[in-house]
Amino acid sequence: MKNVLLSLSGGLDSCSALHIYKNSIAMAVSFHYGANHNDQEIRMAKLNCERLGIDHKVINLKDVFEGMNSALLGKGSIPEGHYEDASMKSTVVPFRNGIMLSVLTGIAEDLNFKAVMIASHSGDNEVYPDCRPEFNAGMRAAMAMGTYNQIDLLTPFADIGKPELAKLGIEAGMVPEQTYSCYVGGEVQCGECSTCRERDWALGLRDAP
Ligand SMILES: [Zn+2]
Repeated sequence: MKNVLLSLSGGLDSCSALHIYKNSIAMAVSFHYGANHNDQEIRMAKLNCERLGIDHKVINLKDVFEGMNSALLGKGSIPEGHYEDASMKSTVVPFRNGIMLSVLTGIAEDLNFKAVMIASHSGDNEVYPDCRPEFNAGMRAAMAMGTYNQIDLLTPFADIGKPELAKLGIEAGMVPEQTYSCYVGGEVQCGECSTCRERDWALGLRDAP
């Protein structure tokens, strides 16, 4: 039965999740939060859903984040280099995942779905407080307590890394060229921002991220 709502950015991880769990996913939601790369990502999210015949909804959160200090929102340049670098903090969008999960929980409750799924994996980095396992555990409890349907938060990839997730995704039919990850947001992915590096590393195209 299809009763899961997936948070689908259009990147490698969530497009992998979409393919791996295509038989359980009733709908996928993408958020536009005003970032440089959202248009490209959402284009891919839409393409993947069309291909699999899964309902897709785009939600505009631009007003929520407008004016906030984040390199992803156009305040300052996107740092090149590794995710762990201190400069990566400039790419934090305040409580982004918390806000998105709250919206997703409301939709799941309204449509009588059973769960919300996110494609977090073990490599999701410590720079973002709302990507950490402790945060997901707290959010899972709040979601169940705050809904009649006791909406669950599914993080099926929490214990595997990005390369393993990409491999499972490809086996399930995900096409890397039909995903978009770059923080810079150009027509062609830049290859040097942290997200591009992680992506290429996960796909075996470079030795280290
Ligand atoms: Zn890039």
